[in-house]
Amino acid sequence: PSRSEITYFGAGPALLPTDVLEGAAKALLDFNGTGLGIAEHSHRSELAGNILKEAKEDLINYLDIPADYDVLFMQGGGTGGFSATLYNLVGVWVTKKKAQISAQLSKPEDDPAVVEALKNAVETELKVDYLITGSWSKKASEEATRLIGPEYVNVVADSRKVNDGKFGKIPDESSWKLSKSAAMVYYCDNETVDGVEFPGFPKSLLPDLDGNGPIVVADMSSNILSRRIPVKNFSVIFFGAQKNLGTPGITGVIIKKNLLAPITPQPDVTLLRKLGLPIPPIILQYDIIAKNNSLYNTLSIFDVYIAGQVLKKLLRTYSNKVDGQEAVADKKAGLIYGALEAYPDIYRIVPDKSARSRMNICFRVAKGGDVDAAEKGFLKEATALGLTGLKGHRSVGGIRASNYNSIPLEGAEKLAKFIQTFASS
Ligand code: PLP
Repeated sequence: PSRSEITYFGAGPALLPTDVLEGAAKALLDFNGTGLGIAEHSHRSELAGNILKEAKEDLINYLDIPADYDVLFMQGGGTGGFSATLYNLVGVWVTKKKAQISAQLSKPEDDPAVVEALKNAVETELKVDYLITGSWSKKASEEATRLIGPEYVNVVADSRKVNDGKFGKIPDESSWKLSKSAAMVYYCDNETVDGVEFPGFPKSLLPDLDGNGPIVVADMSSNILSRRIPVKNFSVIFFGAQKNLGTPGITGVIIKKNLLAPITPQPDVTLLRKLGLPIPPIILQYDIIAKNNSLYNTLSIFDVYIAGQVLKKLLRTYSNKVDGQEAVADKKAGLIYGALEAYPDIYRIVPDKSARSRMNICFRVAKGGDVDAAEKGFLKEATALGLTGLKGHRSVGGIRASNYNSIPLEGAEKLAKFIQTFASS
């Protein structure tokens, strides 16, 4: 089929606006009459610098990111973010702890007594907290366990314990077991595979009246740009670009500047080694990337350019910026969930209503009793109508409609209508 005949609901890489891709196709051959394509220009050229600067400024503008945050573009995908958050925030914890112990003992930070006490603090106090609400936060917690060891990883809550061994619900906050002064509390704001999204910022992680609160880290790979975020409540937000922002290849990071040098000096390698803690690979070190304006090494400027063009389009479309896109995302998700809910005998929405994702709508089809046959039939008929990419993740099966920013309202309407006609035929 031709591009104009389909609406692609795949979970990522995802659909991109056609006009952005048309511009990018030209830019790949010849960027702005330079005779060189965008992927051929040096990442250190003035032209690349401007693309990077504008993408960063537009992201800050669109999401109203406060001035005490920096924006980085990195590599390694969402998965790289699992490792980067662990390395960097354990590093920050060590730095802060060392200063605290040195003040308590009134001894210089490199005094052997300070290092000895620090070693003890690492053994007895260091924890990273993970909320496991789906496949991606589970993977992130497994990466933490692999890098630092299970003794440091505290599972705050696990959705499977409150939902018959399956993901689909967020455990009540009263049951969360948060550590005291964790190096970070990590969660995934939208679980792409399981269709679970936090309805808002968790109350138990809110800062107090003085602005002091836990170090909160969130993976927003699959819902960034789709709703307003209370950025000031977070220390780090990261997201792979390939769903709501652009092409696969870059990861965005919004990071509170007080986690970066010179405010928070980075721990030295020798100290981490002495403490038996993992040393971050240099390309995952936020501090190094920030200091080098995301250009420590060769960055894919093409991917930054695409993300920048998507942001410019969003800013042109919505005078009220992310609030405008949020309203559209809610409307599209409402249409699709509404159609499914109208036929409870035919469709079963997988996650609990309290945690339904607006981005990844996961459901099963039980028409005629044979789920497998019904779902095959559903996918076949949908494909014939140009509604593609609806197959659920291989690990869970079922149907998944990914409702990212580039899905037009008409696409969601068409899917909702098909859900209706399939059920009533
Ligand atoms: N986090 C979330 C929420 C995701 O949906 C994905 C991928 O789909 C990832 C992380 C992993 O991203 P990547 O494939 O870029 O490593």
